[in-house]
Amino acid sequence: MKILADCKFNTKRIHAGYRPEEHHYASSVPIYQTAAFGLTNTTVANQIVTGQLPGRFDYSRDGNPTVQVLEDRIADLEGGIGAAAVASGMSAISFTILNVADGGGRIIAPINIYGSTLDEFRNFFPTYGINFDLVDNINDLKQVEQLIKPDTKAIYVESVANPSTEIADLEVLAQIAHAAGIPLIVDNTFPTPYLLRPFEYGADIVIYSSTKGINGHGNTLSGLIVDHGKFDWTNGRFPQFTSEEFILGDEQRKVTASFSSKFGSAAFIKRIRMKYIRLLGSVLGPIDAYFVLLGLETIAERLDKQVASTEKIAQFLVKNPHVKQVFYSGLDPHDRLVKKYLPQGVGSILSFELAGNEENVAKLIDQTQIFSYLPNIGDAKSLIVNPARTTHREVPAEFRQRTGLNPQLIRLSIGLEDVDDLISDLNQALAGAFK
Ligand SMILES: *Cc1c(COP(=O)(O)O)cnc(C)c1O
Repeated sequence: MKILADCKFNTKRIHAGYRPEEHHYASSVPIYQTAAFGLTNTTVANQIVTGQLPGRFDYSRDGNPTVQVLEDRIADLEGGIGAAAVASGMSAISFTILNVADGGGRIIAPINIYGSTLDEFRNFFPTYGINFDLVDNINDLKQVEQLIKPDTKAIYVESVANPSTEIADLEVLAQIAHAAGIPLIVDNTFPTPYLLRPFEYGADIVIYSSTKGINGHGNTLSGLIVDHGKFDWTNGRFPQFTSEEFILGDEQRKVTASFSSKFGSAAFIKRIRMKYIRLLGSVLGPIDAYFVLLGLETIAERLDKQVASTEKIAQFLVKNPHVKQVFYSGLDPHDRLVKKYLPQGVGSILSFELAGNEENVAKLIDQTQIFSYLPNIGDAKSLIVNPARTTHREVPAEFRQRTGLNPQLIRLSIGLEDVDDLISDLNQALAGAFK
C-alpha cells in the first residue's frame, strides 16, 4: 500500500501490516486459532517450507497469520525491516542476547535494569559463556568505551530505566558501538514506540515487553524483537551469521548458505526466528497477538492521558512531606536527554522514596484503594508496587543500594482513571501510612 507507507504513526498503528482483502475483508484482524496449515500438494509444500511462498504457512511455531500482522505492524511503526513476536518480554531479551553472542562473548549493560534481566545477565548467561560488564552509569561514555574488548558483542540498555526512569543517551552509545563494530540493543518497554523510536537515533535492535504499554490492558504476556536491518553482521565478530548452515542450503541442488548470504540485511531477525523461536519454542499464540493488536490501536490516546496524569502526580508527590525524593525524568522538561529523546513525555511510570521505614511502605500500599498492588506496568489501571520486595527481588542488596532501589522505594504505574481521584487516593494513603 503506497499511501500507508507515507502515513504517520497514528495511522499506521491502526492499519499497518493488515490487508483486509486477504482476510475476507474482516474489519478486525482474524484470530487464526490453528496449529498447522495445509500444504496443498508436494510441489507447493516444498515452496512453503523453503520460504518461497510468502503468505503461506505450515506450522504455528514457524509463523501464524494473526501473529504476523502484529510483527509487520510493529516493524513498520518502529522503522525496522522485520520483527518477531514471542511469548514474553524475557523471551525477547533472551533470544536477542543468544543471537548476538552465540558461542560466547561479552556484553556491556547498566546495572539499573529490570530485575529478571539483571538476574539473567548475572547468573544465567555466564554459565553459557556469555558474560556481562555491568556499569553503574551507562552514560559514562569513557567507561563504556574502555570496556569494549575483542570479544564484546553488543551494548545493551533500557532507553528509560525501570524504575528510576533514567534516560540512556542512545545516539552517542550507538556511535560508540558502531565505531567498535558492535550493535546497540535497546529495551524500549517503558516509553513504547509512541514516545520513542530508538532506530531514529541509530539503535540496531529494539526489544519490548509488550505485556506493558503496547498492549496497555494487562491481559496477556508478550514480547517483541525488532530489527533495524542496518548492522553489518559480516564484520568478523559474529561467525554465527557467516558460517554455513545445513537448514539454509538445498541438499538436492548442493547449494550451501549462511544467514548473511541467504537473508542479507534481514539475517538477524531471520536467525531469531529459525534458531530460537523454532528450536526453543517460546511462541506467541494468535489470541495473545490479537489482544496486543487491539491494545496498540489506542496507544496514543492512552499514553497522552497517562503522561499528563503522571506529570501531575509527580508534582503532587514532590510537595508531599512524607516523600523524600521523586524519580521521574519528566519532572525536568528542560533536561537535555528529555528534550532530545522524549519531548512528548517520559511515560506513565515513576517511583518515589518514602520518608519513613518499611512499615510505612507496607501501610501505604495496604491503604490505597484505587491503585492495585501488583507487579505490572503500563495497564489501564493504576498500579503500585514495592520493587525491592517484588519486581527487583532478584537484585542483591549491594546492587539495590548502587541503584537507589531501597526498601522505601515505591513504584507507580499511572492508568486511565481520573487523575484527581488518583491524587486523593495517594493523599489519604500517605497520611494513613504515618498514623
Ligand atoms: C516487564 C519487563 C520485562 C519482562 O517482560 P515480561 O513480558 O514480563 O517477560 C523486560 N524489561 C522491562 C523493562 C520490563 O518492564
